[in-house]
Order: sequence, then C-alpha cells, then structure tokens
Amino acid sequence: MRTSILAVGTELLFGQTVNTNASFLSENLNHMGFDVMYHFVVGDNPARLKEKLADAFADTDLVILTGGLGPTQDDLTKEMVAEYMGREMYLDTEVEEYLKGFFARRGGDMPENNMKQAYLPVGCTPFYNASGTAPGFALSVDGKTAICLPGPPREMKWLFDNGVKQYLAQFMEKKMFYRVIRTIGIGESDLEMLLMPLIDGQTDPTIATYAKEGECTLRVASQRDTDEEAEAAVNEMTERITELAGEYIYSYDDEDLNEVVVRILREKGLHITSAESCTGGLFASAITDVAGASNVLSSAYVTYSNESKTAEIGVLAETIENFGVVSPETAEAMARGALERSGADIAVSVTGYAGPEADPGHEAGEAYIGYATADKCGHYAIHTSRADRKWNRRYITLRMLRAVYLLIR
Ligand code: AMP
Ligand code: MG
Repeated sequence: MRTSILAVGTELLFGQTVNTNASFLSENLNHMGFDVMYHFVVGDNPARLKEKLADAFADTDLVILTGGLGPTQDDLTKEMVAEYMGREMYLDTEVEEYLKGFFARRGGDMPENNMKQAYLPVGCTPFYNASGTAPGFALSVDGKTAICLPGPPREMKWLFDNGVKQYLAQFMEKKMFYRVIRTIGIGESDLEMLLMPLIDGQTDPTIATYAKEGECTLRVASQRDTDEEAEAAVNEMTERITELAGEYIYSYDDEDLNEVVVRILREKGLHITSAESCTGGLFASAITDVAGASNVLSSAYVTYSNESKTAEIGVLAETIENFGVVSPETAEAMARGALERSGADIAVSVTGYAGPEADPGHEAGEAYIGYATADKCGHYAIHTSRADRKWNRRYITLRMLRAVYLLIR
C-alpha cells in the first residue's frame, strides 16, 4: 500500500527536534510491507497542513500523521484531518473518563483545555493511549486512510505497537519476511558489485545495501502469499549471497560485531584481553557493553604513554625506540605482553594516531592492530586518511573487533 508520513510541528522545521517519528514509522511500515513513498514535514499551520495532506493523498492511500494532538491552541492536526475528510467531531466518553482518571491519579482536576483531546472524528477507529493523554485514531473515507498519532516519540511508539499495527493488518495482502545481514571489510559499492548478479533485475526477494560507519548492511526481503514462502525465498537468496560474499558476513541476524564476538568467545570458552593506546579503552567498552562480558574479558589495559607500555605489559623500550611507538612491532609486542600478563587466550592491541595531529612522518588515522594467541601473532595496518579523532577512534575499535572475529570465527 502506498504510504506517506506527515510530521506536524514547527519545532521540526526549526531543527530543534529531530524527526525521529518518521524514521521509526518508515522502518516499521517497510518491514510490514507498506511502500513508504513520501515524508512531509509541516509547521503548526492549518492551511499548510491541509495542503500537504492533499499532496500526500494525491499519490498515496495511507497517510500517517504525527504531532499536533495536544491540548493547546496550536494543536490542530485532528481538526484539520476531520475537516479534510468531511467528518464532524464527537465527544468520546471513554477518552473523557480516561482523561479525568489520568488527572485524578495525579491528584488534580483536568485542565479545561484537555477536554479538547476527548473529541474525535465521527466514524474513526480510536487508539486509546495508556501512555499519555492524547488518543490516536484511524479514519478511512473512500479508500483513503489517515492515521493520527501524538508527537512525543514514546507515546507514538506505544500506540503504534498497541493498536496501529493491529489496525494495519487489514491492508497487508502479502506476508513479509526479511533478514538483515551484516558485513565488514568491504565497502558498499564493492559489495554491490560483488552481488550485482543477484541485485540486477531483482523483483522479489529484494536486496538493499546500506553503508554504516565502517561496515555495510544488507537487507533481504520477500513478500509472498504465506509466511513460509516468504521465509523460504529469503533463505534461498541468503545462500546465494553467502556464496558470493560469505567471507565478509559476520551476522545473519542483525547482531552488532561486539555481540557476535562475545557470543563466539563464550561458545568457545575463550578469554580475551586488550591493550589499547589511541582508542583509550573503547574496545574494552564495546566488549563490556554486551551482557555476559564477564565470562570472556579477563582484563583490559589502557597503556597510553610509552612508559606504561613498558611497565604494565612489558613492551621493551628498545622496541619503541627502534621502530616507533606507532608501528607494527610495538603493536605486536603489546599484544604478546598483554597475553602473557593476563593469562588470556587471545590478546588484541592497538597503537596509532587518532588525530587530528600526528608525529612527523605519520598521518592522523594511521594505526596498527596487534593480535596474539598461544601460537599466533600478527598485525593489521590501518590508514583511514582522516583527521576526525572521534571517527578514527570508533573505526579503529571496529577494526579491532574484526581482528578478533577473524581469529575466532
Ligand atoms: P505534539 O504532539 O505536537 O504536541 O508534540 C509534542 C512533542 O513531541 C514535541 O515537543 C516534540 O518534542 C515531540 N515530537 C513531535 N513531533 C515529533 C517527531 N516527528 N519526531 C520526534 N519528536 C517529535
Ligand atoms: Mg506540536
């Protein structure tokens, strides 16, 4: 079903509020098989709101509006939708009772202007809001459906999950199944080239690639008559994708790389340690972000200065002097030292220039990741060619996770 999202609120146009409602709705609607064709944003202005509503309905049959359902004068979404669709308003006594109870529980009388929220368009399907005061509703007239939801994201999501989804089921002729495949180590355009034989001329399942920071995500989706058929089609396509790009895939279930790493370490009963310089503990933080990290992380060293690299993990001063503190040799020595001192099964290390500055002869974004196990030691060289400190630190952390992943998968 062709669908538009119309966000109402002047604060969105001012840039004070980010339109997260639109991204939440788009993502969910797409997953449910709705074709989201447009996002509109309009301020709290009745004439422009009606104009955009007309634009949206000109080319789509379902319009989901958010915002402007509050009790104040500038909240007029509901009234404009009712007017546009030729419906009067009625007093919904269920909402009225709920609102009175809502304020009574807070120990006060209902402000008079909240009564406005108890009025709904005649013939609508109300979505009662147990997470706030403004109810949402759906109104269908002559094959065109408007759904109005409150602006606060928490309330909007609650109503979407508790009413809207169920209401929308009537429009879902086909069953949708999708899978999110996560890859790392290949750029979006290279991945697309690799998968071109599958992407070219695709109708169903569809394959979409999205670049994320330092990695790339694939979404494989199918719409069929039954759930089983859709799932089988996605599975078959997933196998073909694996044949072409398997070496870059680290999750078929939209897991983050740190989650995958912790899961595999747990499954294999392995312990890890880290020795970090330029990432300052971000790797250890990524591991401890995952529940169950205590089963796999034995210790973590943040050895920022040359002296601490020597004192805490036994990197020889000569190694640093001869090869430089940012060098493959130092990275490997850090990993070997951490492995030895911690007694872990795997050690990963990093030394580099997060930027924006670097020492003479080096550039920001140059880093070396070392790894060591009982019988292996090696390194990866990274040159991001970026001066962005924050970005470099996050990217280098991701590459450390990847280095570990390649060791344990
Ligand atoms: P309203 O329902 O228009 O009174 O909106 C109440 C509050 O919800 C606003 O002040 C915003 O903070 C928030 N809000 C409204 N629209 C959006 C939106 N599209 N995305 C995220 N937050 C929103
Ligand atoms: Mg508003």
